[in-house]
Amino acid sequence: MESDEEVLNNLQKLTNVPKELLVEKIENKRKEMRGLLSFEGAAHLVAKEYGINLFNKPEKNLQIKDLVSGMKNCNFVGRIFKISNTNEFKRKDNSLGRVVNLFIGDTSGFVKLALWDKQVTLVEDGTIKIGSQIEIVNAIVKENTFGDLEISVGKYGAIKMAENVHLPSFEEMNERFLSGKVSRVKLKDLFPGSVEIAGTVVDVFRGNFIFNTCSICGTKMTDQEGKLVCPSHGAVESNPALVLSFLIDDGTENIRAVSFKQSAEKLLGITAGELKEQEIEDRNKFISERLIGKQLLLKGRAKRNKIFDRIEIIADEISEINPLEESKSLLAEVEAKLTTGVSG
Ligand SMILES: [Zn+2]
Repeated sequence: MESDEEVLNNLQKLTNVPKELLVEKIENKRKEMRGLLSFEGAAHLVAKEYGINLFNKPEKNLQIKDLVSGMKNCNFVGRIFKISNTNEFKRKDNSLGRVVNLFIGDTSGFVKLALWDKQVTLVEDGTIKIGSQIEIVNAIVKENTFGDLEISVGKYGAIKMAENVHLPSFEEMNERFLSGKVSRVKLKDLFPGSVEIAGTVVDVFRGNFIFNTCSICGTKMTDQEGKLVCPSHGAVESNPALVLSFLIDDGTENIRAVSFKQSAEKLLGITAGELKEQEIEDRNKFISERLIGKQLLLKGRAKRNKIFDRIEIIADEISEINPLEESKSLLAEVEAKLTTGVSG
């Protein structure tokens, strides 16, 4: 991690903008984010305004938790603990594409690595398999629609077998990252991985709350010269989808939580299509009124967001906490235990 001074010097060199002005812009960004943004994170956003990517330099020997969307040329070591089925799809030019996802972990977290087309043979011929320890060289990091990071290795990258590394076994990684076993934790004790938390919504981040997804694969579409384009399917039909970002507090700490698509629609009681009909100001008002002050139970994945320099939760399931329901289910649990005790 660079110091604020190093970050500023670097930014000044790259932009040629006076330091005082850069500092002012960085501080304004931080104010906008109500203190939720580190100096480095804010500098990154300012750099982007000048078309510069501060992360665009070789990143050596990272831990998986340090990976951030937008990084290029990053190198890290991990163990493959799960391999997806190979998916085939048709490209716009009718050529057949193939993709397989490797789940790669280290002691700090895990990430998905997509192998495309010819790279898939590495899995098919058994060069790499579950349990393999590999070194990833010059990888590119991107965030997918669900806020998860995905790695790919392009023309200038490589996947090598890693010698003399001692990472946890693939069984341990499966248990830790994918078993879905969740424990309820206090926000101050939050760690990357599957979690359940309960807290009160204290703020909603303003935005337009809608993004467009590909009607074929559900991936987020990007605007290219006024046309919505899916990276895999081109300019096909799009569907609106919801994204909510809010601050939740459980008395020990507050963190940012993000909810997408159906679980966000369920929570708000409105579909993305319906919300899209409203003006942005009305959307903000509707969502703030609906959420602020609500007590929620969130199940999902906690992950480190380096830009915000803190852990946040991608919520897969959200429900409102109803104090009566909570005590009923607790009672049922106790009764079930008693019954088992008697009959057994
Ligand atoms: Zn698509």
